[in-house]
Amino acid sequence: EADLAQVKGLIRDIPDFPKPGILFKDITPLLGDATGFRTAIELMASAVDGPTPEYIVGTESRGFIFGAALAYELGAGFIPVRKPGKLPADVHSAEYELEYGTDALEVHRDALHQGARTLIVDDLLATGGTARATADLLRRLGAEMLGYCFVLELTFLNARQQMTDAPVTALIQY
Ligand code: 5GP
Repeated sequence: EADLAQVKGLIRDIPDFPKPGILFKDITPLLGDATGFRTAIELMASAVDGPTPEYIVGTESRGFIFGAALAYELGAGFIPVRKPGKLPADVHSAEYELEYGTDALEVHRDALHQGARTLIVDDLLATGGTARATADLLRRLGAEMLGYCFVLELTFLNARQQMTDAPVTALIQY
């Protein structure tokens, strides 16, 4: 409880970023705090129950920070899911809806073996578009999805309702 309060206290609200009317949750104070960052990773690691993931799949770019640290903590590999055009070898690509238009995410076609036990990690769950696109990519690779793990969840956007394929964990809910 004290640990969770410490993590929560290191996340700040930035009004009108990146656009007017949006209240952005800024996790950089958490990253910059040595004990806070370690505590967040330890809390994420202890929230992982059931089979141990072989791979953490992190979404560019804040998912890389938490995902790589969690992979290290759990003794898992780390698989980056990136914005288009960043990965050098053959990729699968998944499009997802933005407020205006679409974006896409990519993963290397040879990143995972069939049935690989994976956990998707990102800093924040908002509409769930990013996480669902990442899950699409894992399905195409034939990987097994153990779940989704986030530091923060914006519950008023109800993303969980559309993420019924695997358990969703978030340390902190707003
Ligand atoms: P979604 O696809 O669920 O709508 O948005 C989640 C993605 O956008 C995540 O990759 C997350 O990093 C980013 N994101 C959206 N809103 C915020 C926010 O308020 N704070 C942070 N740190 N990331 C956000």
